[in-house]
Amino acid sequence: MRCSFYKVIARNEVTKQTQLEQLNEEIIQCRKCPRLVRWREEVALVKRKAYRDQEYWGRPVPGFGDPMARVLVVGLAPGAHGSNRTGRQFTGDGSGRFLYPALHRAGFANQPSAESRSDGLILKDMYITASGRCAPPANKPTPEELNNCQPFLESEIEFLSPRVIVCLGRIAFERILRIYSARSNGWKFGHGAAYRLENGPWILCSYHPSQQNTLTGKLTMEMFDEIWKNARKLTES
Ligand code: SF4
Repeated sequence: MRCSFYKVIARNEVTKQTQLEQLNEEIIQCRKCPRLVRWREEVALVKRKAYRDQEYWGRPVPGFGDPMARVLVVGLAPGAHGSNRTGRQFTGDGSGRFLYPALHRAGFANQPSAESRSDGLILKDMYITASGRCAPPANKPTPEELNNCQPFLESEIEFLSPRVIVCLGRIAFERILRIYSARSNGWKFGHGAAYRLENGPWILCSYHPSQQNTLTGKLTMEMFDEIWKNARKLTES
């Protein structure tokens, strides 16, 4: 009996992993937003001086993490010289240098650093994705571009069935409300705010770990640690 229980768990994990891998293949090929395709490829060609010897990813950035994750983290979109360069969410930029140490302290990541896709980073009980998969000019995707990208996020939610969705920033929060058609609940974005969807996951809000927030003290390490502590607690409720 016990043995068949573990077999079911293992089968479930393989299915989710396969679904996510197939989805990621699809994401990487996407060229639906002409403005973003132009921008991500131009940035990858011109490069920042400090990274001129590196080959930029220059494509949509897929989600990554634990296929059995109970916590789904949703960011905004790739940074031009961060994940548009490295090809992995929050990898190689200032936001990631604030995010991953916090995830490591909270036990969601095996290491505090994230500099490339081959750095050995493993997430446990967590999957990280974004509202938009392509780096936008001035970090601002248009509503139409986010709408184009939304089905990818919907599929990830469907495959993972997370218990907690952590929204990094207001745009991610609004996108999640839109997906769940929960706009009418009158829920407001605020750091630390948590809402329970009926028969669905918790939605937990956090300020985005952008340098604009972390260097100005709007988001401190202590504030961020509280988010991950709460995320873990909510997975059990
Ligand atoms: S933002 Fe999303 S929908 Fe638009 S091109 Fe990139 S992956 Fe495709």
